[in-house]
Amino acid sequence: MKKNEQGARRAVEGADACEGAGADAKSSLTRRGLMGAAATMGLPALAAGMLAGCQPAGKSAEDASGADAADAGDAATQAAAAPGNSQGPTASAVLNPQDPDFRSNTIQDFSKTTLFSPLKWGSRTLANRMIKASANSGTIVSTMRGPAVYNIDATVEYYRMLAQNGIGAIILEDKAWKLPHIDETGNPKQQQWWNEIGLERVVEAVHETDTPVLIQLASADYRWSNTPEKGTVCMASELSDQDIANLIADYVTASQNMQSLGFDGVEINAAANNSGAYFLSRHRNDRDLDDPYGPATLENRARLVTEAVRGIKEACGADFHVQVLINGVEDNDASIGQSTKASTVEEVAAMAKLIEAAGADSLHLRLGVYGIHEAQFVNDAYFGGYGIDGTSGYGTFFDFSKHFGGILDASHSGCGLMLNAAAKVKGAVSIPVGAVTFMDPAHAPDFFEQALAGGKVDFLMINRAAGYADYEYVSKLKDGRVDEIRSCCRCLHCVGDFGNHTGVNESCRMNPAHGRAFGEEMPEGFKVPAGDGQKKVVVGGGGPAGMEAARVCAERGYDVTLFEKSSSLGGLLDFAHTVKEPHENLDRARSYLSHMLDVTGVNVVTGQEADAAAVQAENPDVVFVATGGLRPSMSLQGTQATPVVGIVDAMFLDDCERVLIAGFNAQALDLAWYLLA
Ligand code: SF4
Repeated sequence: MKKNEQGARRAVEGADACEGAGADAKSSLTRRGLMGAAATMGLPALAAGMLAGCQPAGKSAEDASGADAADAGDAATQAAAAPGNSQGPTASAVLNPQDPDFRSNTIQDFSKTTLFSPLKWGSRTLANRMIKASANSGTIVSTMRGPAVYNIDATVEYYRMLAQNGIGAIILEDKAWKLPHIDETGNPKQQQWWNEIGLERVVEAVHETDTPVLIQLASADYRWSNTPEKGTVCMASELSDQDIANLIADYVTASQNMQSLGFDGVEINAAANNSGAYFLSRHRNDRDLDDPYGPATLENRARLVTEAVRGIKEACGADFHVQVLINGVEDNDASIGQSTKASTVEEVAAMAKLIEAAGADSLHLRLGVYGIHEAQFVNDAYFGGYGIDGTSGYGTFFDFSKHFGGILDASHSGCGLMLNAAAKVKGAVSIPVGAVTFMDPAHAPDFFEQALAGGKVDFLMINRAAGYADYEYVSKLKDGRVDEIRSCCRCLHCVGDFGNHTGVNESCRMNPAHGRAFGEEMPEGFKVPAGDGQKKVVVGGGGPAGMEAARVCAERGYDVTLFEKSSSLGGLLDFAHTVKEPHENLDRARSYLSHMLDVTGVNVVTGQEADAAAVQAENPDVVFVATGGLRPSMSLQGTQATPVVGIVDAMFLDDCERVLIAGFNAQALDLAWYLLA
């Protein structure tokens, strides 16, 4: 029962639009958490063949016309794959077929690429096409909670480090504490401390390298005059006329305040659950048709944003950069098939022209989905692997060729998903256009270089790859040291506090400093500190933990020997890569970790267990034991006909028809998905 044939595993036939399989299955948004939720709702259905045969839920008369085109194709796919259909699954039934070759790298000199060419960006010129996107950047997890817990030292050093490593520009994260009239739901007014937390120190640190730095103006999830007590869905009608006037005035006041601190500009967040998006999107703009901010015309929908841009420019001057973040193209992930009111990319392009005419200097595009907020910028939620690209997280699936107007190329596991939408918007305006959705040029160098050189997009908005996983990403890439880049594995542990629901982001799975530096665990900060003299270190085990320990010790200047009893390094990474498929880049993690042992001069001994004799022969000062954990044994003995095996061996069983998995933890679900897909 080996299941390594990629083609077979991609054939999740006709699973699109199956609302009945768990419409409210949203859960913690690590990929594992998401898949766990989907598994809880969908696994029994998948096992019973229900997903393959389910039909789209009925649509309201209001929404029927726009969704028909998409659902007709989905229904045909479902019919082809339905149980009992004599045709069975066909090539056309493969959901979101993937291009396995898109990660090629033929670039000889990155410094001569379009990626590293300058870009006129408002009144400034960027050194390259990579901009650190605004996000809750892990190191400053408490910045939003108030001045008493704002770790300004960490924030200053974090952004200084990114600027020194060559990022083209930086956009700081935000909450609405700068907007005088609105507050985060349930919190006391906080805007008074905008000038008390030392943000000017961040600006000074970034400006040491002449790197432009903006700050985002967000306004998501706030209560307005007409917001119901419960169940708000962020609709434009929640704002009274006075709320609108106050909000526009707040954008201007906040921009003036940030300008006084030295910021080069602001980014108005008018995407997702931010108030500007309530108006731009017909899905959220439920104001009266004769309302000047209502949905009747594109001008009316864009009016709040255009008035804010004009106001900021008039107050702060033409050189003060205004970037506007909007949904690039929309679809309804929470209720697939109910997307009649979603903004098409043509509408977005037309509104982008209006925003440009108001004075905006650049545009930043996100994926416009209504359910999973984070999927707007980390669309990994839709590319969960396990042979199912297009998982929505609600127990449903996108066939990307039939959603978002069919404009999104989903054949790269979500990497660069927004590029085609960016190209469409870019064709309508003359200001630079950038986009998010795993814009990681080290991951797929030729792919992104062609997108930039071909004019699909002007700049790449990056957060995880260059802002979390490897702070030296840009400088390493420019030098062509791609093998030395610690790649983001797209696990989503760093996104929000979805893993632990404590209000504190999880740290990065690949970069242990992220989320820990300047905290109790790593008070020394981001950089590996020098060692305290010549020491001999032995590491037992060549899995990821052992390799990382060896690298850090070697970087501290110690003499390090690593023993691995098998013939190659990697430990369980090969196994994990096989289960999870290419999406999580665990093959890159393995090659990075082993390559860095060469770079840092670790003495690697494979085929040798770190037994007492081997360790004593090294006469070490310190020994790291990184030989992996032990699984609890079970009382089941098994028979020849029905063996009892561990999870790794289960991958390689032949001739099994029925498998019983004991346990319901994440690994058990991983295996179940793998065996079923
Ligand atoms: S590897 Fe790090 S940056 Fe990438 S998704 Fe995981 S936690 Fe986030």
